[in-house]
Amino acid sequence: MSENYESTSMRDLLCGSVDASLIGRRLSVCGWVSKRREHGEHLAFLDLRDRSGVVQAVVEGSVDVRSEYVLRVTGTVSRRPEGTVNDRLATGEVELTDCEVEVLSAAEPPPFQIDERSDVDEQVRLKYRYIDVRREKMQRNLRLRAVVNATMRSAMMRQGFCEVETPLLWAPTPEGAREFVVPSRLHTGEFYVLPQSPQIAKQLLMVGGFDRYFQIARCLRDEDLRADRQFEFTQLDVEASFVGQEDVFAFVSEAVLDAAEAATGHRPEPIATMTWALALDLYGTDKPDLRFAMVMQDLSEAFARTEVKAFAAPTVKALRVPAGAEYTRSRLDALTEHAKSLGAKGLAWFRVTSEGLDSPLARFLNAAESAAIASVDGAQVGDLVLVVADEYEPACKVLGALRLVIGAPPVSQGPHRYIWITEFPLFEGVDDDGNLVSAHHPFTMPHLDDLDLIDTDPLKVRSQSYDLVLNGWELGSGSVRIHRADIQSRIFAALGITEEEAQNRFGFLLGAFRYGAPPHAGFAVGIDRLVAIFAGEDNIREVIAFPKTQSGTDLMTGAPKNITERQVRDLRLRFAPKG
Ligand code: ASP
Repeated sequence: MSENYESTSMRDLLCGSVDASLIGRRLSVCGWVSKRREHGEHLAFLDLRDRSGVVQAVVEGSVDVRSEYVLRVTGTVSRRPEGTVNDRLATGEVELTDCEVEVLSAAEPPPFQIDERSDVDEQVRLKYRYIDVRREKMQRNLRLRAVVNATMRSAMMRQGFCEVETPLLWAPTPEGAREFVVPSRLHTGEFYVLPQSPQIAKQLLMVGGFDRYFQIARCLRDEDLRADRQFEFTQLDVEASFVGQEDVFAFVSEAVLDAAEAATGHRPEPIATMTWALALDLYGTDKPDLRFAMVMQDLSEAFARTEVKAFAAPTVKALRVPAGAEYTRSRLDALTEHAKSLGAKGLAWFRVTSEGLDSPLARFLNAAESAAIASVDGAQVGDLVLVVADEYEPACKVLGALRLVIGAPPVSQGPHRYIWITEFPLFEGVDDDGNLVSAHHPFTMPHLDDLDLIDTDPLKVRSQSYDLVLNGWELGSGSVRIHRADIQSRIFAALGITEEEAQNRFGFLLGAFRYGAPPHAGFAVGIDRLVAIFAGEDNIREVIAFPKTQSGTDLMTGAPKNITERQVRDLRLRFAPKG
């Protein structure tokens, strides 16, 4: 067994790799007792488990071992007696006999059964995460994550990228989320900020001549947690100089498709692109889920002169629901309520029947309007057509949300459908103070054809930013960056960031740009989400070793918690009364 790299001074090989080719060999394995079965008084069968699987050891005489004891078992690999072979087990043809058992560590009874069949409450799993990760699924998920990381890292290296680590104790970064702050002991009253991403650092590296940078980087954002979001998450962070958007797509696609191939055994097709405007128009979202058809159709023209008050709006959007005519009234009412909760004034529905449209509104429509509805997206008898009338964007978004409620399977199921979304608007709206708000971050380059619109019609300005979307989840974002001081000043002015504030917040970056900034662009891929989908999980906590709960606590360590009085004194902190 000297050729086996699993062999150490304590064991010869992994439990899961003991097979019939080793029959007759005497060898040692180490692991946890996953099961113990007595056979009469002086014979016990132990299933010994390590990360690779389990092997059965037949132990004679009395041994005082229980579940989850850690053992070293030395035994002879033997063929199992006729009729006792277990086909479901990789090691099921053999067992270790004539065993010497060494207890390496005793164990209390575990708080839950460590197998895939027991349905354990997540709170308990997180409290005892070190036990939870002994389970086969968690072993598989975390190892898959390691494979994805290694594959992406090697794809980036192969493409000439250099991995550079950037600080965690840093200054404010411009991703727009609330930040975690760390009080300084040596400079009391002053704070470090944990980076929302290495955004500024990687742009500085471009100025520094690292024309192809990447990092598997931890990002920290003090935001509400959800199934697809944690305070800290990991990105494949990328930046390159002397490149355009297509180059970034090529670099990142290579890494993501390599990872997909390593994880699933199948290399996806090259990733297509779709503009933000088209995604909104067809799917009502900038994160279109392309696993199912159901595209929206615009009926504004057919309803331009409508006499039906409910449809008198700038935009009339329709969505065909295949076989939806059988929806019950209560399901339709629930969809209507959902649409209203998203801000719609109402939701109209039409069943397509062989006698025409069936709906409380049907008799108010003229022939052309009925015909338009009855032919939405090739509607057939038995389908349902949902209609929302409103301003353009809200109409699209409401119907897009209903599309997901009706058609979307859980994110990890079905085929993996990737899409690059391009040409996002530069600004996503106006804040309470009347200032424009960046859709991505303030260093995003506007579309050069739209520069003049910054002053005249800013919400129409397209940006050179892009997202990668997989099964309706945003996998990551990036942009071509501004490297020209004049454009950057115009954008800061539009965002209501004064010269002084810009100097104060980003002075070091703007200063660096005076010393020769190459044109550059970049991207960041969310690794937690990517691995979750590869692993068939709908919640990223299933692919994170030690995640926080939805309310931001770590049930295992108890964090966040008090610090010692000494620490409070050193930091010269004083707490305001709660209120
Ligand atoms: N820093 C951005 C983010 O974390 C990604 C990028 O623009 O490269 O979303």
